[in-house]
Amino acid sequence: MTKQISNWSGSVLFSPQEMLYPTTEQEILDIVQKAIQNKKTIRVVGSAHSFTPLIETNHILLSLDCYTGIIEVNKERMHVVVKAGTKIKAFGELAFAQGVAQENLGDIDVQALAGAISTGTHGTGLAFGNVSSQLFAIKFINGKGEIVYCSEEENPTLFKACQVSLGTFGIITELTFKVLPSYKLEFISKSEPIEEVFKQLDHHNQTTRNFEFYWFPYTSRAQTKYSQVSTKEIVENKVGAWMDNVLENDLFNAISYPTLHFPSWSKYVAKISGALAGTSAKVNWSHRVYALPRHVRFNEMEYCVPLEDYITVKKEIIRVFNQKKFHVHFPTENRFVKADDIWISPSYKRTSAYISFHVYKGKAYQDYFKTMEEICSHYGGRPHWGKMHTKEAKDLSLLYEKWDDFLQIRKQQDPDNLFASDYIKRIFGL
Ligand SMILES: Cc1cc2nc3c(=O)[nH]c(=O)nc-3n(C[C@H](O)[C@H](O)[C@H](O)COP(=O)(O)OP(=O)(O)OC[C@H]3O[C@@H](n4cnc5c(N)ncnc54)[C@H](O)[C@@H]3O)c2cc1C
Repeated sequence: MTKQISNWSGSVLFSPQEMLYPTTEQEILDIVQKAIQNKKTIRVVGSAHSFTPLIETNHILLSLDCYTGIIEVNKERMHVVVKAGTKIKAFGELAFAQGVAQENLGDIDVQALAGAISTGTHGTGLAFGNVSSQLFAIKFINGKGEIVYCSEEENPTLFKACQVSLGTFGIITELTFKVLPSYKLEFISKSEPIEEVFKQLDHHNQTTRNFEFYWFPYTSRAQTKYSQVSTKEIVENKVGAWMDNVLENDLFNAISYPTLHFPSWSKYVAKISGALAGTSAKVNWSHRVYALPRHVRFNEMEYCVPLEDYITVKKEIIRVFNQKKFHVHFPTENRFVKADDIWISPSYKRTSAYISFHVYKGKAYQDYFKTMEEICSHYGGRPHWGKMHTKEAKDLSLLYEKWDDFLQIRKQQDPDNLFASDYIKRIFGL
């Protein structure tokens, strides 16, 4: 047994028999061959930022933390081949040095690239799909110990199945991203009435490159965030950034902590947080704008609903929130994502709105998440694969028309379930 492993929020704790850090493709192949011989299973960990027990195993846990860096930049095709253990932040800087950038990202950049794409990690902006949709090709080592390459052009069916696949096809070793020339973003955040945000939602989504907002519970206020491509000079107000960090992390943590002992104070903390949300702005290279530091630990559920139902769902959420006593003070996050054609991506064939529910670490989240999950499920909601949910194979199979095809192709790549943990078996019905 190795030391105990925990995910970021502390909701998943386990001790694998072995924790391995291969440095070459050959070492990864050897690990797979040995695991096949010894009848062991393997799970791969990225940065352990998923809330669901995707990385949990009592056999072999493998990390590609020592398998990182850019392999090739093709400026003609605007493709970058990168080792799968590379973290998003490092990739952003390495790509920037080559004059290119990812078209969109989520709100943190600490994930491994393979970890992020495996769960369908997304940002916001209706012109953009999730991060997996930026892929041109994937190379992985499957459950038979074979090196497999698939792309939009080669083995495209396998590629569509594998683009979001929770580490169930094998160990992803290389990813080829379609990239853009480096670009700057101008970011503006402000506080606005939620009703105004609802009225202007279509307009914001159509005219803003990346629009999202947080709604503060028990208030009628939202913190909106707008990003547009910009050619302006870099504007990084260091004092302002420090203040934002203090407000969003240190101060927020300080006012959150008492709610562990006095849950009924949550309502006041939510109102204070809403009142503190002010205006901030910056201009910088895109990869330095998308992500924010996240020091306050929480548990999270996120549901993807059809965009056309979003306002109805959100109003129902606000109504239920105000009626029930969940003792939750974190704002709910609202983002908007283009439909894609990736078989088990939550945005599969669906222009999507994603609603995130956060609860301060240490507080009960079950009742709140269950209620919100029911509301979202009523509108065909699909859970984010990396965030908490209670769905199992029988429910999930109804949400994805390519579910059976996915399972069939997965079985071809991993016939002996080398990459299937108990949790993976449960959600895929293996
Ligand atoms: C604070 C915080 C903020 C977040 N913000 C966002 C956000 O803005 N948008 C969003 O969509 N999500 C967000 N998430 C969720 C997060 O992006 C996903 O859970 C993501 O999958 C985590 O990446 P990771 O590298 O930590 O992967 P892990 O959690 O370690 O692993 C995720 C999956 O990837 C698999 N995997 C990892 N590496 C490989 C590999 N080389 N080969 C095969 N399989 C592999 C694992 O086996 C597992 O199934 C956030 C999470 C946290 C904690």
